[in-house]
Amino acid sequence: MSIPQNILDTPIEYVKGIGPSRGETFRKELNIHTVYDLLFTYPFRYIDRTTFHAIKDLHADGDNIQLKGTLISLDKIKGKNNRNRIQGMFKDSSGFLELVWFQGVTWLDQTLTPGQDYIIFGKVSIFGGKKTMAHPEMELLSDAGTNLSRTFDPVYASTEKMDAKGLDSKFRRKVIKSILQTITEADIKETLPQYVIDKLRICTSMQSIQWIHFPENENQKQLATNRIKFEEFFYVQIRLLQSKIYRKHKFKSAPFTTIGPLFNTFYNTKLPFELTKAQKNVIREIRADMGTNTQMNRLLQGDVGSGKTIVALLCMLIAIDNGFQACIMAPTEILAQQHFDNVSQLVVDMPVEVAFLSGSVKGKKREKIIQDLRDGKINIIVGTHALIEPNIIFQQLGLAIVDEQHRFGVAQRASLWKKNNDLAPHVLVMTATPIPRTLAMTIYGDLDVSVIDELPPGRKEIQTIHKYESARPQLLQFMHSEIAKGRQIYVVYPLIEESEKLDLQNLQDGYERLLQYFPLPDYQISVVHGRMKAKDKDWEMQRFINKTTQIMVATTVIEVGVNVPNASVMIIENTERFGLSQLHQLRGRVGRGADQSYCILMSDYKLSKEGKERIATMVRTNNGFEIAEADLRLRGPGDIQGTRQSGVLDFKLLQIGQDKTIMDAARNIALRIIDDDPNLERDIHINIKNQVAKLRIKNRDWGRIS
Ligand code: ADP
Ligand code: MG
Repeated sequence: MSIPQNILDTPIEYVKGIGPSRGETFRKELNIHTVYDLLFTYPFRYIDRTTFHAIKDLHADGDNIQLKGTLISLDKIKGKNNRNRIQGMFKDSSGFLELVWFQGVTWLDQTLTPGQDYIIFGKVSIFGGKKTMAHPEMELLSDAGTNLSRTFDPVYASTEKMDAKGLDSKFRRKVIKSILQTITEADIKETLPQYVIDKLRICTSMQSIQWIHFPENENQKQLATNRIKFEEFFYVQIRLLQSKIYRKHKFKSAPFTTIGPLFNTFYNTKLPFELTKAQKNVIREIRADMGTNTQMNRLLQGDVGSGKTIVALLCMLIAIDNGFQACIMAPTEILAQQHFDNVSQLVVDMPVEVAFLSGSVKGKKREKIIQDLRDGKINIIVGTHALIEPNIIFQQLGLAIVDEQHRFGVAQRASLWKKNNDLAPHVLVMTATPIPRTLAMTIYGDLDVSVIDELPPGRKEIQTIHKYESARPQLLQFMHSEIAKGRQIYVVYPLIEESEKLDLQNLQDGYERLLQYFPLPDYQISVVHGRMKAKDKDWEMQRFINKTTQIMVATTVIEVGVNVPNASVMIIENTERFGLSQLHQLRGRVGRGADQSYCILMSDYKLSKEGKERIATMVRTNNGFEIAEADLRLRGPGDIQGTRQSGVLDFKLLQIGQDKTIMDAARNIALRIIDDDPNLERDIHINIKNQVAKLRIKNRDWGRIS
């Protein structure tokens, strides 16, 4: 075997004290193959060894704390159901504390010795008026050594198998410490330019790796954490911005130089309302982008109901005026259909051919659409991902609009560009709900961003109210009175895949209950859920749209895009089971007409803290951007629809909901660097260049970003 040049490349089993068998465990359990992997797997928490607390000052505040004292007794106690527990009494100079263990009873009984001095660590709770610590970590004071000023001990994520092989945090601390003693700055090379380090006053690579494992104080811990977070995000940004520049060079689009008759006619005579200032601004931005031969890659963000559709249409008309075709791709059949209806209606009487394509368009009809598209007879095609199938060929696609991008993979977006051989279409990505700025920066960091930040005038703010089951009679009364006014009502039930049957039962029960209060033939109720055939779903939807039915009982299939302006009440059942952005989407189904609209959130009496906060957020604000921020804060990015597979969110330390300041700094510096030196050719950027090359090899996920 050749000795690796860099100690960091040493396979894990060659590390002193590890060996082949434990090396195998490291590889299998934690994907740690080399010394590098070991060092760059950071602790997830620390044991604060800086302070010993006094028993008399303890509070049950949920913090892990450290105490020093004597274990004065240890008793095995037989509990109910033969469940043994061990109870100990611990004492320091200020008082007594009860210790208790419910697991590992025999082992503890054998290893702990009353009369000895221990350092103990754990959470305090108050039980029957007494202070107790359950399952404390116990370390013999004599084992802790003389070096009690030693400060923060790292705790590493582990597994049962790791622990069984003695590869616990204690062991890893020892190994990592000894590795850190042998390596130098030549091994852990600096990855950032000196001027960035100076400017931000962050620590060096070497310091960060030392301090992330063994900080001597809070300050070192912070410095190391911040530096690592900064770097994590900085390199994602460098990569995104580089790929943006690369694309700008590689893909050329047709410049739409004329603002022709279609746009002008529509704008001057067909526009059903005055555009908001925000809409005008956004159209100006898009026009400027499409006016050059650099491919547009723009994200259009706007809250539910902010009027993205009309913006999309005007942009498509520009493309057609310049002799090109345009398309809108939506993630679901219903949404695509809705876009198609909207667009067709808006351009009625105009010489614009609009077509619809999805998996459900079949046979002769499909063939004709495919042919007409190729011949250029179709100007606008609206559809689902059926549009990106290889046999769909445009005569000349000039503008591709992708609605709700986050449900599509980046690869799908790219496959639309590839539909033209010579020129790439301009691309406009629209999101259905706002995305928090930090998240947008991460997932869409390679796109330019336009925001519609105002709603059309004259909208009445939707009133959102939270109610419990006891208010059911009032609710039914309210429904009656709204229906009497000619309004329509949605009643939505959650549908979560794992318990689909149960959920359908809920919906069925709810429907039957409503039937009693809203009996035929005076009332009609639609039911729509995901298990129904598309045809039946459409039929039911249609009955609601044409006001045959007054109530629509549905699962979240109606979440996206459905537009029935006469519906003014949205009742959400089991609200606690919905995510925030979903709730906001659902609420956006009402408030589309001139009437005062209501959103009523029905919930269980028992709510989790998070559930309560979600509902409170909904009641407090109608602003989608605010809601998106709250959602990110409450749930983290992993749960936000579709982000998981994007592969750009796998940060080890950075938390997108919390680390705004760091992310802003990293983004701004990356922007300046790439602006000034796109190929990283200047000497001062050599560290960055090297690191980008290294990461490209190490992290295959990066390929998915662009
Ligand atoms: P979203 O951004 O959620 O896709 P839509 O484009 O569906 O919003 O617009 C929501 C509603 O607002 C539609 O009924 C649309 O006709 C209307 N609308 C859009 N822009 C304006 C405006 N400037 N003034 C008045 N109504 C508008
Ligand atoms: Mg829309």
